[in-house]
Amino acid sequence: MRFTQTAEEIGVRLLSCVFLAAASMWAQANGQLQIHFIDVGQGDGAILISPLGQTVAFDIGRDMVGGSCDKPVAYYRQLGIRKLDYLIVSHYHEDHIGCVPSILASVSVDHVEDRGQSYDSTFYDAYARTTRGLRSAARVGDKIVLDETSPAPVTIEVYAVNANGMATTNENSLSLAVRIAYGGFRAEIGGDLSGDDADDYIDVETRVAGAVGKLDLYKAHHHCSSHSSNDAWLGQTRPTIAIISAGDGNTYGHPAYDCLERLHYAGAETYWTELGNGATPVPGWDTVSGTIVVSVDLATMQYTVTHGAKTDAYAIDGPPGIAPR
Ligand SMILES: [Zn+2]
Repeated sequence: MRFTQTAEEIGVRLLSCVFLAAASMWAQANGQLQIHFIDVGQGDGAILISPLGQTVAFDIGRDMVGGSCDKPVAYYRQLGIRKLDYLIVSHYHEDHIGCVPSILASVSVDHVEDRGQSYDSTFYDAYARTTRGLRSAARVGDKIVLDETSPAPVTIEVYAVNANGMATTNENSLSLAVRIAYGGFRAEIGGDLSGDDADDYIDVETRVAGAVGKLDLYKAHHHCSSHSSNDAWLGQTRPTIAIISAGDGNTYGHPAYDCLERLHYAGAETYWTELGNGATPVPGWDTVSGTIVVSVDLATMQYTVTHGAKTDAYAIDGPPGIAPR
């Protein structure tokens, strides 16, 4: 649920926004789990900063409209990111890996997790050259633990990769999808994972939805295309909020009207990096704002969503059996 805020509370929020912005300038840990969904244009790119300051990038995409890496490069610089503990790559399309070489020109990375295998494109070749010797092929059940010494570590677990053994060459369907857990907070990021069997797509969403379970935050698969976010997936994961990363003027019709309608029907409020070129945002449900920063505070059992100059707060709606910390 979203909280209605009093003027006093908004003042506190503004102060905390200033703090967050200041902290972010140097990519400092602020004791909370931060996930920055970067406005990269038509593509995907997110950075997680753990409460103790470990960093994980999820895709570093190149804008399919402008063909540029200017936006992610500028945001990494603004955050002051010099080193990534992990880079997690969902799949090998340009809008997910196209800016890996540009970022890794000035940022070091310890480990790269991807779906293994290879892909026939010049963007893949550049990615493979840049990450040589750092890559591990993820498998379902693999787990990364951040802040291992903390009483509240962050875990990132693999739920889907390479369509979990189902036969397809559809690169989107092969996406690596992970669930992030921190206390009772749950988020899922799964690249362009698909949820239907049309054309050569494979419905992976339905097969993994039960294992993923209830989510606070869902990063809408495949830029909220018609092939993503099916009713079975949303019925099991019941996300409170969804993030949609799509770019103005894209030629794919993202976000798709039917995808957005399914998200609303499931009760999810959405935050969009850009307006895109498909469905029209519905006031009260959908917010278009540029880069979106989510910050999870286990002390208050809330997470905030900062979009532009505004911040919304939500209660952590963790899975049953997880006691509040
Ligand atoms: Zn994509």
